[in-house]
Amino acid sequence: MTRSLTILGATGSIGRSTADVVLAQPDQFRVEAVVGGKDAKALAAMAKRLGARFAALADEAGHHDLRSELAGSGIESGAGDAALIEAVDRESDIVLAAISGTAGLRPTHAALKPGRRIALANKESLVCAGKAFMADARRIGAQIMPVDSEHNALDQALAAGHGKDVEKAIITATGGPFRTWSRERIAAASPAEAAAHPVWSMGSKINIDSSTLMNKGLELIEAHHLFDIDADHLDVLVHPEAIVHGLVQWSDGALTAGLALPDMKVPIANALRHQQRLAMDLPRLDLAAIGRLSFEMADEERFPCLAAAKAALKAGGSMPTVLNAANEIAVAAFMAGKIRFYDIYKIVDGVCSSFVARRLDAPATVAEALAIDGEARRAASAALNETVIASA
Ligand code: NAD
Ligand code: MG
Repeated sequence: MTRSLTILGATGSIGRSTADVVLAQPDQFRVEAVVGGKDAKALAAMAKRLGARFAALADEAGHHDLRSELAGSGIESGAGDAALIEAVDRESDIVLAAISGTAGLRPTHAALKPGRRIALANKESLVCAGKAFMADARRIGAQIMPVDSEHNALDQALAAGHGKDVEKAIITATGGPFRTWSRERIAAASPAEAAAHPVWSMGSKINIDSSTLMNKGLELIEAHHLFDIDADHLDVLVHPEAIVHGLVQWSDGALTAGLALPDMKVPIANALRHQQRLAMDLPRLDLAAIGRLSFEMADEERFPCLAAAKAALKAGGSMPTVLNAANEIAVAAFMAGKIRFYDIYKIVDGVCSSFVARRLDAPATVAEALAIDGEARRAASAALNETVIASA
């Protein structure tokens, strides 16, 4: 049976990989709508490539360009918040949510509909508002399937047993571009060096998060919400080859692991499948050719953002929301060349510390989460100005 699909963040790295999966499975999917941020030309090209019925651009200023690019194609278009809502309100069986950053929260949340599957790549939605998001998904009756490779692997591994028998759920990290660098060398790293991921080709924000290991910290928080596993039963293992993505350690000492070549099309295809697995014509993992797989502990001295994220998960309440917001501000400043690498951690840690005494509960609604997110962003911007002045 053909399933209808809407893609949020269709022009991004995950969006493009999703398009490849969908086009390789013409009998399985029909694309209802595609959503993009600012690039009208890229969105129009993607809408045509996928034969979508509707294209929505977040940036209203790009509507004219989008319309002229789509002229004669029969594809409807819109721009701005209302168009994003129209995209998710249109009938579709599956919404693949791959907008980057907390900007994805509102449209992804609005996409929760009874009986619909959300193939979720946008981890920031869960880090910012996980409790509210998951509760609303349950109440509405929407199913959440993880696209993030580690969580997709965990989802498959967890199917081998019962939740009560899980001793540990472990996600792997490649270690990023600075895995073998000294702290001194990392301290002087440029944005281009931080963005040069050794294995995955991804969007710019997640690339920087991978270099600080904040990405793995965000993923621990994501795993907590997706699988309802607490901080003490979650762990990170550095595995540079990125072949084993997630492992479940059971109460009898057995482990179940999810392995695949590092290609996001594999977890995307898995998250989109319905009942049966899709038959994907992708290279197969050849373990004999790889020969050896290596594992090591994450070094939280050189990568303190991982420790900060673990602390936020453990503290609970609104700490993950605060951490995520401060990180987005700090990462944007680092990418713009305004601060140095370890200033990302300093800003995140400083903002988190300033919220500790308030002991705010985990946001019960998305609106509450966004209010705390806004407050933490303002605190991070203030901390950023001080950092920039201090280093000038
Ligand atoms: P990307 O930067 O390549 O793409 C982001 C997409 O979101 C683009 O289509 C962009 O136009 C759109 N967008 C940005 N701001 C928007 C807004 N305000 N409204 C609507 N659309 C907007 O990012 P990516 O690497 O594809 O990552 C997307 C999400 O998936 C992130 O949350 C990331 O953490 C997650 N993820 C990515 C990977 C990966 O391999 N790239 C792996 C796991 C998880
Ligand atoms: Mg991941």
